Amino acid sequence: MSNPTPACRVCSNSHQIRIGELPLYVPGGQAPSDLLRCKNCGTWARSVNFADPEIQKHFNVTSYTVPEREEQMRSARTEFFRSIIDLASRCANAPATGPRVLDIGVAYGHLIELYRETGAECTALEIVDQLRERLLAKGYAAYKTALEIPADARFDVITAIDSFYYFEQPVELLRELRPHLKSEGVLIIRLANRTPVFRLLQMLGRPISRDLFGDVKHNFTYGAIRLLLEKTGYRIERTVLTEKGKKGMPFPKWLYYKLSPAVSRITGMKLTPGMILVCRGRDTKE
Ligand SMILES: [Zn+2]
Repeated sequence: MSNPTPACRVCSNSHQIRIGELPLYVPGGQAPSDLLRCKNCGTWARSVNFADPEIQKHFNVTSYTVPEREEQMRSARTEFFRSIIDLASRCANAPATGPRVLDIGVAYGHLIELYRETGAECTALEIVDQLRERLLAKGYAAYKTALEIPADARFDVITAIDSFYYFEQPVELLRELRPHLKSEGVLIIRLANRTPVFRLLQMLGRPISRDLFGDVKHNFTYGAIRLLLEKTGYRIERTVLTEKGKKGMPFPKWLYYKLSPAVSRITGMKLTPGMILVCRGRDTKE
């Protein structure tokens, strides 16, 4: 129990606190894992290595990648994805012929299908082989990692919708994507905003369950994600707390979505269940 914890993937601080156990489901069993919190930047993390191919098998069997869930996910998220496309089109200075779009963690490809209908040329990043092969068959450029994207590929819009917190090395991912973002382009990241609830539960002496943490590697505070973006050559231009088009939620969650933007405005704290960050590239020496 007294093994040293790994360094925080956001700020490199080596003094993460072990909060408890938080295993991850993998086909055939559970991968043991600890729940860690960085004292320095506030990032919460699972200790298990998401870059390990054995751990990545988890993504073959999740509720957002298995074939039998596809239509349910499509109907729950189509309107939401349209709102993302609308947001991006208002922010990115894309050519009239249609933007070039890169989506990170496309899963079934529903966002890029909608994008394609608008005339966009779409590229996909997807770790699950079967899903990637399906995308290739539909005529999309699809890659497993950002390093595989052709060096000269440039995008007007890069989206990471509920996918960014699955990466073991978020700093590396952002650095790898940076040369591919056009100077007038935008990076749009949607994240669940769970850390305020974790802190509340900690204060109450209650555990943080797997359901609450999600199956992710990281849960970032707003400050941590801002730090992450700044150190990798981006700046947050706009933070959207009111999310449109979410469907199929139980009533308490729906109420949370409806009321929390106003509470956040009043308190000055980001207490919404999710947030959408519209980011631009920053000029750096690199
Ligand atoms: Zn940290």
